[in-house]
Amino acid sequence: QLLDTVLLRTDIPELELYASGKVRDVYRVDNEHLLFVATDRISAFDYVLATGIPNKGKVLTQLSLFWFDLLRDIVPNHLVTADVKQYPAVLRPYEEQLRGRSMLVVRADMVAIECVVRGYISGSAWKEYKRTSSVCGISLPPGLRESDQLPEPIFTPATKALSGHDENISFERMAQQAGPALSRELRDLSMRIYQTAADYARQRGIIIADTKFEFGRTAGGLVLADEVLTPDSSRFW
Ligand code: ATP
Ligand code: MG
Repeated sequence: QLLDTVLLRTDIPELELYASGKVRDVYRVDNEHLLFVATDRISAFDYVLATGIPNKGKVLTQLSLFWFDLLRDIVPNHLVTADVKQYPAVLRPYEEQLRGRSMLVVRADMVAIECVVRGYISGSAWKEYKRTSSVCGISLPPGLRESDQLPEPIFTPATKALSGHDENISFERMAQQAGPALSRELRDLSMRIYQTAADYARQRGIIIADTKFEFGRTAGGLVLADEVLTPDSSRFW
């Protein structure tokens, strides 16, 4: 199985390409549905490497599916099915390629904020802390070392920059942009999701240092969308 060839890009001419990220190819299936396909591309610090890792996209997809299920009582999500047999008939010829690495989801109106939760100080938060002793307007105790655990998890939203790196913003700025009520709801949800997942992982020897969630609105209400708690959206230690 591990000697499978690497899937670096997909080509489904029957469907309109909706988005092609660094790792995933997203297709529009119909007005309400999207098909997410996780390829085996590797993205590191916003660059896509020339080579891939066989089956990496399957691991990413299975992780998201696992967490969607574990978190279902806390938050509804955008998943419709990951069973290729239930995909629309137009995808039949691609079944082999799609199995294990794709999901059919409800298209959502995305909230343009990355909902980041951090239990440990690393990455852009560490840089900001060194400069200002705070992160996203939250002041932190002095003397923290890189990758230290924080006294308690913090919510550090970021805006999706169209090019380059995302920009960390304060909760107040998020509230201006997305509205105070929605912002509070997303912050509370993100904290609960992180807490639940981090506890689960810790009991199994894994630290989830930080992670990013994306939410969207559907006809059925607010849902957890995108990928969830994968090594591409989180730091696993
Ligand atoms: P990166 O590789 O840095 O993540 P990207 O965000 O452009 O770049 P993807 O994450 O692969 O690339 O793109 C997926 C896009 O689909 C994102 O803009 C994400 O916000 C959006 N998205 C996720 N779930 C849904 C959904 N259910 N409905 C509509 N859009 C969604
Ligand atoms: Mg993305």
